Formats: sequence, structure tokens, C-alpha cells
Amino acid sequence: MAKWWEKEPLRFECQADCYKCCVKPGIVHFDREDIRKAADFLKTSPAEFKKTFLTRDEGYWVLEVGEKGAPCSFLTDQGCGIHPAKPKQCESYPFWRENMDSKPMWKLVGGFCPGIDIGPMVSVKKIKSFLKKFTH
Ligand code: SF4
Ligand code: SF4
Repeated sequence: MAKWWEKEPLRFECQADCYKCCVKPGIVHFDREDIRKAADFLKTSPAEFKKTFLTRDEGYWVLEVGEKGAPCSFLTDQGCGIHPAKPKQCESYPFWRENMDSKPMWKLVGGFCPGIDIGPMVSVKKIKSFLKKFTH
């Protein structure tokens, strides 16, 4: 059966100077590919990257955001400091399974993320590729 977002077009455009999702307390998952990509970008090794930035949580490598009110360690005044190599979780936001489950859920997320429901339409193909990227 077609999903609700396959039947009506969705709009999204990340807003300049927002960064709310990089400050919100939570965890950012890094899989093996994310770690290698970010480590390459920072010109370090995956082992060093893990040691410096990540912790182990239920079998996953994660970066903790919001501890003692601190934003993501990669957030700079100009935005994400690893933008070209940001992990799939960040790349695919807000198109996560939990956010796409129903239209009311999408609207609820829109109460947090000001980029939801404005800007250009996002194709069903693109939404599906985001959903495949981040599966936690
Ligand atoms: S909360 Fe939404 S608009 Fe703001 S930075 Fe995150 S994705 Fe972009
Ligand atoms: S890695 Fe980049 S995009 Fe992801 S939360 Fe941190 S600063 Fe934001």
C-alpha cells in the first residue's frame, strides 16, 4: 500500500542559521562507512576518530549531543564542521522512518524543524533513498 507521503507532495528546505537539530539532546549514529568518511575528511584514522569523538552504545558507535547543554561537537559558527562527510543520520534528517510514519507525526516534527513544509518539493524517490540510508 502506498504511504501517505507518496500520495501528496512534501516540501522541505533546511533553514540557514537554524542548527536546532545539531543542538537538540540525543545521539548521532556513525556506522563503519560514516566513521571512515568523517575520519578521512578530518585527515585522521577511523580508530582515532572513534577514540576522540564517539562512545559505544548498545553495539553502535554514537556521538552524544546535548550533554550539559553542549551542542554537537562538530557544530561551528558556519554550521556542520564535517558537512561534506556528515553521517547518514544527519544527511537524511528529517526523513527518518519514525518521522514519516504518519502525516500527524510529520506535522509534529514540523513544530520543531522550521524547514518542514516549505521550500521545494522533495520527490518520492529521494524520500525513499533517505529512508534506506538511515534505518535505526
Ligand atoms: S531543525 Fe530543520 S531547518 Fe533547522 S537545521 Fe535542522 S533540518 Fe535544518
Ligand atoms: S554531525 Fe553535523 S549535522 Fe550532524 S548533528 Fe553534528 S553538527 Fe549537526
